Amino acid sequence: MKILVCNVGSTSLKYRLFDFGSSEETLAEGKMERVGAETGAWSHKDANEAAEKQTLPIPDYATGIRLMQSALLKKSLGSMKDLDCVAFKVVHAKDVTGVQLLDERVLSAMAAFNTVAPSHNPPYIAAIRQFQEVLPDTPLVGSFETGFHANMPPEAYLYSIPIDVSRKYAIRRYGFHGASHEYVSDRTAELMGRKDFKLISCHLGGSGSLCAVVNGVSIDTNLGLSLQCGIMHNNRCGDIDPYIPIFLMKDFGYSLEQIETMLNKQSGLLGMSGVSNDLRDVELAAEQGNEDAINAVESYCYQIKKQIGAYAAAMGGVDAISFAGGIGENSSLVRQKALDGLEFLGVSIDQQKNETAKPDCELTGKNSRARVFVVATNEEIVVARKAKEYLENRRQAAQ
Ligand code: ADP
Repeated sequence: MKILVCNVGSTSLKYRLFDFGSSEETLAEGKMERVGAETGAWSHKDANEAAEKQTLPIPDYATGIRLMQSALLKKSLGSMKDLDCVAFKVVHAKDVTGVQLLDERVLSAMAAFNTVAPSHNPPYIAAIRQFQEVLPDTPLVGSFETGFHANMPPEAYLYSIPIDVSRKYAIRRYGFHGASHEYVSDRTAELMGRKDFKLISCHLGGSGSLCAVVNGVSIDTNLGLSLQCGIMHNNRCGDIDPYIPIFLMKDFGYSLEQIETMLNKQSGLLGMSGVSNDLRDVELAAEQGNEDAINAVESYCYQIKKQIGAYAAAMGGVDAISFAGGIGENSSLVRQKALDGLEFLGVSIDQQKNETAKPDCELTGKNSRARVFVVATNEEIVVARKAKEYLENRRQAAQ
């Protein structure tokens, strides 16, 4: 079975073509950046070949999809008919979750939540519509980021606002990064050699979240109705006092648009440091003594540490902590600071192993009760496997 997984960003399109035969093989993969700008960048790689890189205008997703299609047809796909489906890691559609055929009903449910996922839902909907046009005969299957968190208990997902308001507008904690937390949970189980354990999965990328996982099931996570909460993100604020926007609007004349832009684009690591939304730049500025950058890094790690403590309390202990995502996999500084002083919880790491960590690997310190891992997350394979299972079930039901 051949499944093409597409990851749509606001200006990017990443793709990977899987072949599920006797093994799970990647036939081709590629990445387009700066879609919509005057000059875009495209890199494409077929299995066992060198990557081809080009600079060219990619004015919209439809152009990007056609370029990807022609590259796949050169070596990796005989015909578009060989493709069983295109699978997407879609973000938010209220209570429509799990794995879904991306039809009009599901696209409308996504559009109804554009306000709470402004950087994610609109580009996905636009791209999916263009896939429908360019590949009208290929099923499009979405695996929702909220799916892994669907079994959280009410005390974890309800907000302390009037219950009738929560019910009327479907306001609750949904949680995101489900594909990554699920991959990390499964991979950690392999590394632990068991499935019955309490895990804190730390997905730390441009956007980050932590998840408390008991025996493979998410029982709590720190993204909520939207992706604007939890720990700070690259340019989004994370948890702040909900009265900050009201204070700025009522007393200082900020408009709703200004608040939205501030919280969604100008906050987090970028806003606090005043340097960059990329942790590498902020770490460098901190090393050079920039006080705001030092505070941003310290605050970021402190927020992760507090969340780890909260989830250890929620689960009644912790057996494993796994780090993933661009920051979780690469920043030894963040891992070290986030776990510093947690010996009382039975958590410590080997500093040498932390500094030289290459995922997948273990950092557990000598006297640590809990084991600590760095895992190279693989959201695409989770999405592809779910799409495969969905198609197999659909075929069986049709027989
Ligand atoms: P996204 O959430 O956009 O998918 P990634 O998971 O790829 O992002 O993570 C991107 C982030 O990873 C970048 O913003 C950068 O801050 C961080 N990062 C990547 N490499 C390093 C590194 N060596 N040290 C510190 N941070 C890093």
